[in-house]
Amino acid sequence: MATTGGAPLTLADLAAIPVTRLHGVGERKAKGLAESEVENLLDLITYYPRRYIDRTNQARIAELMAGDEASVLVTVERCTSRRVKGGRVLVNAVVSDESGRMQLVFFNQAWRERQLVSGREAVVYGKMELFRGQRQMTNPVVDLVGDQTGRIVPVYAQSEKSGIYTGDVHRWVAETLRRTLPEHGGRGLADPVPRSLLRRHDLAVRQEALRLIHQPDSMAEVTTARRRLVFDELLRMQLALVLRKRAIERTSKGLVHVTDGPLVTQLHAKLPFPLTGAQRRAISEIAADLRRAVPMHRLLQGDVGAGKTLVAVATMLAAIDGGHQAALMAPTEVLAEQHWLGIRKLLEGLTVESKASLFAERPLRVELLTNRLTAAERRRVLADLQAGEIDIAVGTHALIQEGVVFGSLGVAVIDEQHRFGVEQRAALRGRSRGDAHPDILVMTATPIPRTAAMTVYGDLDVSMLDELPPGRTPIVTRWVRASGTLDEPPEDLESAAALESMWAEIRAQIAEGRQVYVVCPLIDTSEKLEVASAEETFDRLLNEELEGFRLGLLHGRLTPAEKDQTMELFRSGHLDVLVATTVIEVGVDVPNATVMVILDADRFGIAQLHQLRGRVGRGAHASTCWLVGGATTPDGEARLQALVDSTDGFELAEVDLDLRGEGTILGERQKGRNDLKLASLRRDREVVGQARQAAIELVDADPHLAAHPELAAELELFVEPADAEFLLKG
Ligand code: ADP
Ligand code: MG
Repeated sequence: MATTGGAPLTLADLAAIPVTRLHGVGERKAKGLAESEVENLLDLITYYPRRYIDRTNQARIAELMAGDEASVLVTVERCTSRRVKGGRVLVNAVVSDESGRMQLVFFNQAWRERQLVSGREAVVYGKMELFRGQRQMTNPVVDLVGDQTGRIVPVYAQSEKSGIYTGDVHRWVAETLRRTLPEHGGRGLADPVPRSLLRRHDLAVRQEALRLIHQPDSMAEVTTARRRLVFDELLRMQLALVLRKRAIERTSKGLVHVTDGPLVTQLHAKLPFPLTGAQRRAISEIAADLRRAVPMHRLLQGDVGAGKTLVAVATMLAAIDGGHQAALMAPTEVLAEQHWLGIRKLLEGLTVESKASLFAERPLRVELLTNRLTAAERRRVLADLQAGEIDIAVGTHALIQEGVVFGSLGVAVIDEQHRFGVEQRAALRGRSRGDAHPDILVMTATPIPRTAAMTVYGDLDVSMLDELPPGRTPIVTRWVRASGTLDEPPEDLESAAALESMWAEIRAQIAEGRQVYVVCPLIDTSEKLEVASAEETFDRLLNEELEGFRLGLLHGRLTPAEKDQTMELFRSGHLDVLVATTVIEVGVDVPNATVMVILDADRFGIAQLHQLRGRVGRGAHASTCWLVGGATTPDGEARLQALVDSTDGFELAEVDLDLRGEGTILGERQKGRNDLKLASLRRDREVVGQARQAAIELVDADPHLAAHPELAAELELFVEPADAEFLLKG
């Protein structure tokens, strides 16, 4: 290892040194390490302990009662193996601590005999049982401790089969750290994060943090180390995101809009209600973006009913005030139509200057563009769009198809982000004849926590509508703990009675003129089965619980025309009950529907349940959501209870993050280049915000990080080469 003389070692230097340069790493060990993706010294020192054992705080064998699950630090006394009936191998080890002795039994793990060599220390985790009066654990989890001394013992993920033990890793990490130390003639480890940031957040220097995470004397030291290393990971991630955001802003020309023009003013004067505080905040955040010459990329998060449409309309009108056009793109034809109708009504009576004759005015024009238009209608809409005679185009993907050209697209609003990717945003940008990029507002009704949004949508700014307009009657959510399959009646009388009283209340609601959704069990594996189950539920309800009422059935195998017809019957009040699969999740708005029943609710995720529930509570009458399902797991239990406890999408998003972790959220966008080894968007929420703030300050003061070459170089290690070029060279 060339560690003497010269500048302190950077992470890139470490990445250039293969593990085979370490004592005791030959071809076989190197192969074993490679299986854990450890090939160089950077991989090695960021191969963090999976957990720590505090020697002074372990259970003692003698204290364990039969049935206790525990982890115990033991020494192997002897280990034997033999073949038993059926050719299986049984490995038997006797282990002890200073309080007593017990047996470990392993089935079909012949290699344990090589692992559990007499005299080795190990931590075993399992359930202690008595077998012929002897203490015994069967197939426990075993972590070899290796030759570490000291109170706190780090345990590394180890794969016994690849022949890498925790003690090996410990030794190699120690060697790496020792040889970088100046007092051992090493060059030391560079710390590219500005000292002022470290001081502000009270963070350890990198060399120290790396030592403490691998060789702590106390758990407090682990915490200190972890804070610094987590900050590093999140700072790198945020730097990449902020650099990308700024690079896009730099390289694309935007429009400077006026945000207090006549249309915007007329809209505000026309509203029959005051804006909520959250709406005012969002509108002013957007207005600030619109006035800049840099194209806006903003995400508007808010629950169903929070009033996002109005914010979107105010945004679009700013563009029209400046003589441009606006587009609103929705994920489905139904949603596009609803938006179109709603927006037309909201903007009724507004006029704009006519281009045809100076000083003349014409009504503001809102048109629909979907694939349902006839060829002739489509030709006319396209011509008028290009001529700038349509002010707002509402539509589906049809808006970004070939042949659609806006005279001058000023603002594009995209509803329901989860259906649209980055490519669609780019396509929308390309639809305008002008060379300036339109401002883009993305709306989503599936909020994710702000810190997660900073990461998942790190190249967007975020506005939150976290306040509902006043006067809404909150939806009451009730959980009936019973199995949802209707053809197998629940075994216990209590849940049978609970279900019956639910249907009785629902019948009473229908008798009062209200309408009901029944969502059928989700079957991810097969649409066919899902449809079959929906049909079964429909038949059953028609003949039993909801006999005598008008029921409709909606599922994914119907033709669009059939779906439309059923929806129309429900919307117009000709159906009392709509039995449906999750196809109703997005886009249905029937204010008279006040009851939502979700069968087998424990099969749905929090966000999906919240979306489904949002289909009711849209009118003047009080609404109820019934969750039917016996939670089979603690997580399922927590999910359903969360829905009962809260109707706030942001609160639910936090719970969801706690329960599911960030994998699911991150998975969607961060595939492949995830440098988060220690950091958790969940546990480290606060640090995400600090890192973002720090990244913004660094980049805004120094757009290519020219004054921080080490930091920039480090970033290159973690992002794709092409990306680094784009981000840093500008
Ligand atoms: P979202 O798109 O966020 O689901 P909408 O924009 O469709 O919500 O608004 C839901 C309903 O609330 C609409 O009928 C709208 O007119 C109404 N609304 C919006 N803002 C307000 C407000 N500030 N006060 C009262 N009602 C409002
Ligand atoms: Mg909406």
